[in-house]
Amino acid sequence: MEESTRIPSITKQEEIVIQMCICPDCPSWVEAGERGGFCFETVPKSRYISEKKGCICRGCPVAKRVGFRDLYYCMKQLLSE
Ligand code: SF4
Ligand code: SF4
Repeated sequence: MEESTRIPSITKQEEIVIQMCICPDCPSWVEAGERGGFCFETVPKSRYISEKKGCICRGCPVAKRVGFRDLYYCMKQLLSE
């Protein structure tokens, strides 16, 4: 009973975010074996994406659900409104 109401572990949450992440459809995405989910605290920034060619985070179900408003989570210098 209690089990079903428990918040999933960080690892599980990270996996859920990565599965929902739409970064691979983004024009800035670089195909290099990364999995996205850059907005999640345990996921490091991208080692390959460096050019801002557009960011589709605002259309992502993760951002919508959590209320994220920033862009370019894959980069060290993310863009805030
Ligand atoms: S908000 Fe952006 S970085 Fe985070 S999961 Fe969605 S597309 Fe990926
Ligand atoms: S964080 Fe934004 S810019 Fe970076 S890959 Fe994801 S959608 Fe594209």
